[in-house]
Amino acid sequence: MNIPLVDLKAQYRSIAEDINTEIAEVLHNADFVLGKAVGLFEKEFASYCGAKFAIGVDSGVSALELSLRACGIGSGDEVITAANTFIATASAISFTGANPVLVDIDPQTYNIDVFAIEAAITNKARAIIPVHLYGQSADMDPVIRIAKKYGLVVIEDACQAHGAQYRGRKVGSIGDAGCFSFYPAKNLGAYGDGGMVVTNDAEIADKIRMLRNYGQKEKYHHIFLAYNKRLDTIQAAILRVKLKKLDEWNEARRRNAQLYNKLLKNSCVTTPIEADFAKHVYHLYVIRARDRDKLAAFLLSRGISTGIHYPIPIHLQEAYMPLGYKSGSFATTEKYATEILSLPMFPELQEKQIEYIAESVFRYPNT
Ligand SMILES: *Cc1c(COP(=O)(O)O)cnc(C)c1O
Repeated sequence: MNIPLVDLKAQYRSIAEDINTEIAEVLHNADFVLGKAVGLFEKEFASYCGAKFAIGVDSGVSALELSLRACGIGSGDEVITAANTFIATASAISFTGANPVLVDIDPQTYNIDVFAIEAAITNKARAIIPVHLYGQSADMDPVIRIAKKYGLVVIEDACQAHGAQYRGRKVGSIGDAGCFSFYPAKNLGAYGDGGMVVTNDAEIADKIRMLRNYGQKEKYHHIFLAYNKRLDTIQAAILRVKLKKLDEWNEARRRNAQLYNKLLKNSCVTTPIEADFAKHVYHLYVIRARDRDKLAAFLLSRGISTGIHYPIPIHLQEAYMPLGYKSGSFATTEKYATEILSLPMFPELQEKQIEYIAESVFRYPNT
């Protein structure tokens, strides 16, 4: 059996006809830049998230950078985020001129340790970016409470968590702004790059609309210097088709996770936990194992691909040596970086395949 970590081809086959029709429509209309489908998708995605506004951008990292800039964050400021995240969370902060200030993760949820945030706040702190890692919401109530106390902005990194919930509310709509990526492998993925900011704040929305489009309010009237970071019309048309399927696909991911949990009970690995405040959408199904690399090699020998999200924490990345953190700065993040392993997870994953993967875990190391 050959089981990939993700299978984007199976999903395309299931919706090919609708996708092809929508792409043809964009070609027919030739409205490639900020065309009709962009506006429609923004409305639909805002409504899906329970937010007033949505602004389509060219990637998740742009969504984060423009949100920070729209909130006035820049040179000399500090932005707090988790040490275990994808590089884009931190690099978006750096691109504004601000510095990332990192915090360790909670050992149960692998998300930002809310009890460690206050100790990281200095008088330069301007914002917190909680990351809803692997598809599970960070614990937002304490984050919002701390942000209010210190006058900080909250930007949610929901790039792995389309449709996930925190105490019954969709993520992305809870902070000042919520950022999404439509990288192809995400729960809602384009056929190329794309991103979105959702917000309930009209001022932030207006600012981001200008930031993504050369700082213009009307054509050729440039209020400030800004970027070309627009969401493509073809991608928006594709995403409109896929948004209708998102809940169904997330439910399939949840069913797959529950089957994994059941079958891996009493195995040598630690399975993920869904916090009582969260509705997890399992962008990734991440286990922990003591001999992680050996287990991964063993699974691969049986045709099972796995991933590591992420092998090197932000503070130990070469690019972030100038921040001055040392090995030992964040104990849980560093320990988990050696233990975490992402098993295959996608909506079309078959029960038979999950059974085979679980059986393989049980066979290790006693082949
Ligand atoms: C994917 C991802 C991003 C960045 O998204 P891009 O679209 O690749 O720029 C940011 N943060 C997290 C947590 C992600 O998983």
